Amino acid sequence: MISTGDYQIQCTACGRLYPDTGSNECPGRHAALQRTVYSAQRLHCADLPGMMRFFDWLPVHSRPPVTAGPVTYRSVALARELGFSNLYITFNGFWPEKGAVTRTCSFKELEAVPTLQRASEKKSGILVVASAGNTGRAFAQVAAEMNTPVVVVIPKRSLPRIWTTIQTDKVLLITVEGDYSDAIHRSAAIAHLPHLTAEGGAKNCARRDGMGTVMLDAATTIGRIPDYYVQAVGSGTGAIAAWEAARRLIRDGRYGSHLPRMILSQNLPFVPMAHAWKAARREINAMTDMADAAQAISQVYADVLTNRNPPYSITGGVFDCLTETGGGIVPVCNDEAQQAQQLFEECEGIDLDPAAAVTVASLITAAHDGLIDPYRDVMLNITGGGYKRVREEFDLIPVNAALATDNATPLHQIAGFVNDWVKEHA
Ligand SMILES: *Cc1c(COP(=O)(O)O)cnc(C)c1O
Ligand SMILES: [Zn+2]
Repeated sequence: MISTGDYQIQCTACGRLYPDTGSNECPGRHAALQRTVYSAQRLHCADLPGMMRFFDWLPVHSRPPVTAGPVTYRSVALARELGFSNLYITFNGFWPEKGAVTRTCSFKELEAVPTLQRASEKKSGILVVASAGNTGRAFAQVAAEMNTPVVVVIPKRSLPRIWTTIQTDKVLLITVEGDYSDAIHRSAAIAHLPHLTAEGGAKNCARRDGMGTVMLDAATTIGRIPDYYVQAVGSGTGAIAAWEAARRLIRDGRYGSHLPRMILSQNLPFVPMAHAWKAARREINAMTDMADAAQAISQVYADVLTNRNPPYSITGGVFDCLTETGGGIVPVCNDEAQQAQQLFEECEGIDLDPAAAVTVASLITAAHDGLIDPYRDVMLNITGGGYKRVREEFDLIPVNAALATDNATPLHQIAGFVNDWVKEHA
């Protein structure tokens, strides 16, 4: 049980190795993702519930008492239906019959745990998180479980999505008029206030390594790194995380020397990364890849996939991930997603987050188009589900918005409010 959790940070641009100060930037100021390098080259799975099993490869020094974690199993019904020999489902959500107890029902909770823990260990300040719903709910729940404060900024219409299973006064929830992009914009300004800090999104190695436990769970269950990894993406953070985790598993030596092909997907009509990748471009072109963004975003079924500023071009980001793994991005329409959702629920017996429905639809398309060999080991990252099941077990407690803002609300007014809250709760 003795584990030091030793690690360093490495810049994916210049390769420099340095100690973790809690920052998400290279000391040389390179615009590149910063990765963890763990001193434990071999993954030792601790005898602990959930994701804390993979503590050795998380950038934290103590283990918060949480139970969220991915669960991988071999599919029978869906695999038979779609003609796959070895289809592995890594489920993130609430499905206690399978051992999955991620209460807020998405893999965002895997990000929230090490991110909040690392911030508290590094004394980074109170984290400010922008969200369309799933991230905010995950951080609210984990903040409640860890009894640590967090500020969550969401579009007003996402309010019904922010709930926890335990009562808490540790969450300061602020709403904005507009969409996810407006929430991101406002949260950036709020994060500059005293005592607060931006959580960093994809740039935060704790977020990525938290999500990377999905790949660790799959590989340790299957006995080898899968040949394909399938996931619907908005930012692509989950895919980058899985790729980085697979690289670590190769170094470990016991799980094979191959990287999984990353088969990603986006929801039509908003598919900026799918467009850029198809055109073999590292840059997303706003004019051609995101024409009529607001209109397109309003039409997609899975709105957690509508990130306008994903870490696609950045060194160590989605473009590099797809290039190194020989992957691809499949566009999926709403009809395909909804049909796939129904099929999955019938076959496997659990409900899906709309984004996970896009993932299942992309599996069908990719197999049909010859992008996936159905006789190899295929890992399906079911990023969210069990919303019906969790309601049977828990009363879902809504988090109330402490402050509703619109474009006219001056920052100094928000600042005064936040300052009072910090004094009282942190
Ligand atoms: C956020 C989210 C995604 C997309 O994840 P990224 O890897 O960050 O693009 C997929 N599914 C669900 C359920 C999510 O909440
Ligand atoms: Zn650098």
